[in-house]
Amino acid sequence: MTTDLQAIIEEIHATLSPRTGEGKAADYIPELANVDPKKFGIAVIDLEGRVSKVGDCDEPFSIQSISKVFTLTLALGKHGETTWNRVGREPSGSAFNSIVQLEHENGKPRNPFINAGAIAISDLVMSGHTPREAIGEIVRFVQYLADDAGIAIDPAVARSETATGFRNFALANFMKSFGKLTHPVDHVLGVYFHQCALAMSCVQLARAGLFLAANGKNPLSGHTVVSSQRARRINALMLTCGHYDGSGDFAYHVGLPGKSGVGGGILAVAPGRASVAVWSPGLNANGNSLIGSIALEMLAAKTGWSIFGAPHA
Ligand code: GLN
Repeated sequence: MTTDLQAIIEEIHATLSPRTGEGKAADYIPELANVDPKKFGIAVIDLEGRVSKVGDCDEPFSIQSISKVFTLTLALGKHGETTWNRVGREPSGSAFNSIVQLEHENGKPRNPFINAGAIAISDLVMSGHTPREAIGEIVRFVQYLADDAGIAIDPAVARSETATGFRNFALANFMKSFGKLTHPVDHVLGVYFHQCALAMSCVQLARAGLFLAANGKNPLSGHTVVSSQRARRINALMLTCGHYDGSGDFAYHVGLPGKSGVGGGILAVAPGRASVAVWSPGLNANGNSLIGSIALEMLAAKTGWSIFGAPHA
């Protein structure tokens, strides 16, 4: 089997480029609708730090829900296992912005990757901080993970989502009514909207996720981010919950822990091998990148990286 990753992703990019524009870019956050739907980038970084990249892989895009992996990591660092008093660890089987489960489950979100769960995690990250400090801490943490001080929030996206985030206000107010948020709703959502508005390229995102492929230690920077046990557990959550009600389908087709965002990005982790980021704005019915998911399926097939079996056994 070829391990020429650069050749593999160039082939995938060439095969799928004619299909970019399929799916539907998110427009409920108006600023995201301004992005060219034909953008398409892939970046793969292996544990030796070798970067393979193709297409629009150096252009920053809105990482949206992919940020939930980084804030969960931050919350676990601050609060340890007590984090799980606030959110569960089960797949939701519902849309990312669903409110129905919250009432049955008394305001405790199913997992940290659906919107309600991520809002609860933002509340945890805030403890002891003003919203501005918490946002600064999240940005610095992501810069540290990627070892890149150039990563920043896109203020236009943050403003756009604040102006139209009615569903997230509903979720947060609902949780607040159950006593499940410590801080004022508008403060928590201020943090949440800004973390979602982080702009990163595929290369930056793959670097930021590399610690999850390498037992918790970023092999490029030498930073130990989390223990190997915690890295495994975050990967497990990404596999079971990272694509909302499309998580089972992603596991079936790709077989890697992954986290999607409505900006059209997906971060995927091949444990012991590499960190991968793809970007294509058109989304499927579950709000996950359509072409990005197919690109990852092709990559997993060509490399044999699925966590569920030996390559071409
Ligand atoms: N900021 C988006 C929202 O709250 C994130 C959703 C997503 O990426 N799936 O709706």
